[in-house]
This record gives sequence, structure tokens and C-alpha cells, in this order.
Amino acid sequence: MDKTVKDKAPGWQAGIGHRLPWLGSEVAPVALNSPRWVGWSDALAKRLELTPDDTTLALLSGNGASLPWSPVAQVYSGHQFGGYTPRLGDGRGLHLGERHGLEVFLKGSGPTPYSRGGDGRAVLRSAIREFLASEALHHLGIATTRALAVIGSETPVWRETQETGAITVRVSPSHLRFGHFEYFLYTRQQDRLEALIEDTIDHHFPQVRGESEPRLAWLAQVVERTAETVADWQAFGFCHGVLNSDNMSILGETFDYGPFAFMNTFNPGYVCNHSDHEGRYAFHQQPGIGLWNLNRLAVPLTPWLDEAQLKSALAQYEPALIRRYLSRMGARLGLEAPEERDLTLIGDLLNLMAAAQVDYSNTLRHFAGLDPTSHDTPLHALLSGQEGFASWWQRYQARVGAPADLAQWQAQRAQANPALILRTHLAQQTIEAAEAGDNEPLARLHRALCRPYDPEPQYDDLRGDAPSWSQQLTLSCSS
Ligand code: AMP
Ligand code: MG
Repeated sequence: MDKTVKDKAPGWQAGIGHRLPWLGSEVAPVALNSPRWVGWSDALAKRLELTPDDTTLALLSGNGASLPWSPVAQVYSGHQFGGYTPRLGDGRGLHLGERHGLEVFLKGSGPTPYSRGGDGRAVLRSAIREFLASEALHHLGIATTRALAVIGSETPVWRETQETGAITVRVSPSHLRFGHFEYFLYTRQQDRLEALIEDTIDHHFPQVRGESEPRLAWLAQVVERTAETVADWQAFGFCHGVLNSDNMSILGETFDYGPFAFMNTFNPGYVCNHSDHEGRYAFHQQPGIGLWNLNRLAVPLTPWLDEAQLKSALAQYEPALIRRYLSRMGARLGLEAPEERDLTLIGDLLNLMAAAQVDYSNTLRHFAGLDPTSHDTPLHALLSGQEGFASWWQRYQARVGAPADLAQWQAQRAQANPALILRTHLAQQTIEAAEAGDNEPLARLHRALCRPYDPEPQYDDLRGDAPSWSQQLTLSCSS
């Protein structure tokens, strides 16, 4: 134990890996060469009471500084692309400890017993993408793990070409995945499975303790949170890309950013993951996949809950998803007290947008300046060439009516329709700059993404539709 760090950095706790020692293995990080700060989230750092000084850099890059306990790599399994993989785990990440109830996790810190032949590293481009995405979703109001920092280095890492190693410092109240629970079920460790469930409830779902069946109430909570997060993805055009059950957070947070993308041109069948040949994780499949994964989580509860009970919890998924989607899309379009029948109005607009091949986010942003009583709006300019738009507009007008206070109505739309989203090419530009040693474009995009609903003119260059060159950018799992 490095006493200096302990004295200098109070407020750390060992966390779940030491509470439940069978949850993984103690592993020392393998230091990155010449570590340097590439990205840093001030707001999150304040919450964690951490500063970007040399001691913090050494601690987070595995360069000597340590805490009074060993970091832990956790074991889990999971269903990947529909098939069960019996043993996965933190193959390139370590749990350092907790601060203020938040787990601090190093992604890219070297091999672990779960690396399965991998190098245990993350490359700079993937670390930056995860950092930006976590911050972007959080500030849109979508549940997600957070990212404190990106640390770059001179450590060579081989992918298709030689790149450099990096660490994303990921932060969340819990990094437990559906796959953790599957692992202890399928390895027939029922006592440990039970202890893990109890620990999860105690630390993250204490409110279900008062229920007659706490485990059932817990599952119902996970069902609801997952449904809400998936609904948010659908409302904001976010495609996760690898919705395997080992990438599903028990807190319902967006988790494990790989080949994710916010959609540019609206295409319901959009597949962001180049390796997903069958489109299993296509944009419009996400709601169904969310439920499929929750079914995988229900299986580890079969020792204690019967089929009817599990089905009753899972049955809450669809209504919760629709409720949340209606609330988000209702706010975007200005539908007061949205009801299930509004789904047709929303869906018909999306069909028109798909047919016209318009940009998803920028088209919806037009609602921020829309006069719903007019017949000459930016929506008309984009969609009036589409068969069915005129009648859609009539139905929309009938539904919305004339706002009593148009300026206020528009201001509400502006708070529901982001003026900026994290497009793949925007991330790519900051990555190329950071690879060349310039971190300012990343810092600037990060600042802009922290206020996505606020169209500050200084960031207008980040707002346009995606340029045609960016359509060629492909994303795969090789990060
Ligand atoms: P992911 O596609 O990032 O969700 O990773 C799936 C599994 O592969 C997880 O168990 C990861 O820890 C592991 N993994 C991914 N990349 C690497 C790597 N470079 N080295 C070791 N393990 C990895
Ligand atoms: Mg993963």
C-alpha cells in the first residue's frame, strides 16, 4: 500500500470486489507508457472530489500509485448475438474502488484472467468515443455510465494497424451486468448467486426491501429502468450496436460503448455495428432485444420465483417502454398529455422522414422554432414532397391546436429537441486531432455536448447534417 496516496486521497472505499471476493480476481494494472490526460470531465471530477494532478494520473494509468487494496477484475458470462458464452469477464478493465458511492473503473488497463487471449488494452479512438458518448447521453438525460477521463499513452497496441493504448476511466454506481447473474446460475453456484442478488438489492435497490417479494420487485425495477433507457435511445436515434446480455447494466444504464452511433439520415433498420451481419442489433430491433435480454436475467431468478411471477415482472416492459417513449416524443412534437393512440401520429411522421431520407435529429430540432398553425414551416420544406405529408400535417394541427403562448411552446420544444448530438464524424475529427497531439477539439466538443439543448452560435459548425464522407466511416467491435 502506498501510504502517501492513501493520505493524499481520502474518500476511497474498496467496494463490491472486496465485499464479495469470489466475484473476481485481484489484478495489478499494467502501466501505460508516458501517460497523459486527453479528456477530463470537470463536473464529474467535482462529484468524485478528484483533481487532474500527477498523483491521480499515476493512479489511473497504473504508474506506481496505488490504493490500500488491489484492483479487481470481475467474472461474468452472457448471451452474445443470441448464443451463450459461459465465461467472459473484465478482460481489459479493473475496478479500482469507490468514491462517494461511485465505482471507478479503468477500461484498457492490461490483461486479466478474463482476457481470453486479448491484450487487455483499449485504443485511443475507442476510449475517446466512450468518453464522448457517456457525456453526451448523460446531458441528453439518458441513463448511462459516466466517464471521468481519457488517458492517452505511447504504449503500442495492435489492431488492424499499430495504434496507441488508452484508458477510459468509467464511473457508475454499479458495473454489474445481466451476465454476472447468468454466470453464477450456469456455474451452479446458487449460494453466491443469492448473495449477489441480496447485495445488489441492499446497495442499489433498497426501496424493494419493504415489498412482500423483494426479488420480484427488484426484477420489476430492472425491467422498468431498462425499458425507459431503451425508449430514450429510440426517441433520440441512438443505436447501441452490441446489446449482448453482458453489456446490459443492472441499473438500466447505457453500458459498454463500442460501435454505437447516433443516426444521421433516418433509417429504422439502421445497423451501426459493421460486424452485425444479420442486423440483430439494428435500431428498430432494440426494444425487442431489451426484452429478450431481460428474459435472460429472469432465468437466474427461477430458483426463487415461479414462471407466473417472472412473467408478471416482464409484462411491465412494454407498457413502461411505451409510456417513456410517448413522454419523450410527446415533448419533442408538442403533444400534450400523450396517449397510446399518438403512437400512430409519431410513427407516421417517422415513416415520412424515412421516405424523405432526412436527418433524424436536425429534422426534429425544427419543432423548436415551429409554428403549428402555419402551412409554411421548415418541416414543409423537408417533407412536403412526400405523399401523405399534407394529411399528416392536418392531423398534427388538429392534435396540437394553436398554442396559447407560441414563444413558450417553442421554448419547451427547444428543451426536448437537442440542437447538437454526437455524430460519428464529430467524434472522428476529435480523435484524429488527439492522435496528432491536439486535445482541444475534443475538449470543445465535450463542452458543447454538455449543453445539447442550448444552440450557442460558437458551436454552429458542429450542428449540420453529416457530410457525405462520413457515411463511409465503419464501426466494429475491434476497439
Ligand atoms: P466488448 O465487446 O467490449 O463488450 O467485450 C466483450 C468481452 O471481451 C469482454 O469480456 C471484454 O472484457 C473482452 N475484451 C474486449 N476487448 C478485449 C481486449 N482487447 N483484451 C482482452 N479482453 C477484451
Ligand atoms: Mg462488454
